[in-house]
Amino acid sequence: LRRKRADDRLRASVQDGLRLAVIDPLTGLYNRRYAAARLTAIAEAAAAEGGEFAVMVVDLDRFKSVNDHWGHAAGDAVLVEVARRLGQSLRSGDLLARIGGEEFLAALPATGLTEGRIVAERLCHAVEETPVQLPGGAGIAVTVSIGLAVGRAPGAGVPLRDTMRDTVDRADRALLAAKSAGRNQVTISRSAA
Ligand code: GH3
Ligand code: MG
Ligand code: MG
Repeated sequence: LRRKRADDRLRASVQDGLRLAVIDPLTGLYNRRYAAARLTAIAEAAAAEGGEFAVMVVDLDRFKSVNDHWGHAAGDAVLVEVARRLGQSLRSGDLLARIGGEEFLAALPATGLTEGRIVAERLCHAVEETPVQLPGGAGIAVTVSIGLAVGRAPGAGVPLRDTMRDTVDRADRALLAAKSAGRNQVTISRSAA
């Protein structure tokens, strides 16, 4: 019995360790490491089905000024609330991860450009709609910019990893375009690289 308890403790601590290795402690979202693995699986599924998948890179607008005006703790609270709103606007099979300080990645299996765009617009609105309420009573208006790209099943001889990386790269470039076009908007990568 003593050995069973020790086994249970070990198993629980291994599970805790595995969870901590893939979860961002601030927002509770998946981290970059987990996102890379899930993206590969999503691209694999698309390849197997000859289908598509949508990738969105979501970045808070002028977030540095939120920290500068309200302090780092308020900035953290904003990140937590934005993460919650993004999660609420996605389906349970979608991947949502925090891949950088104020940058998130969403990957939607079996999703093309038309549907992907609708979802991306929804994410933008969910953040913009209501100011983030701080415990002290202040409300902070925040917006996000989103770059959207759709990945397709690769042609013969194209490694899956390249399809996945290319799709994320295109979403990243679309994000930069959304920033320079004025922020608080979705930009789509149309090139079928
Ligand atoms: P842009 O609209 O171009 O994205 O401007 P920005 O200010 O959002 O971008 P920039 O990259 O200049 O600044 C990002 C800021 O995000 C700077 C950094 O202090 C803040 N940040 C990153 N991670 C965290 C975090 O975990 N908590 C808080 N409070 N701030 C963070
Ligand atoms: Mg930013
Ligand atoms: Mg950023």
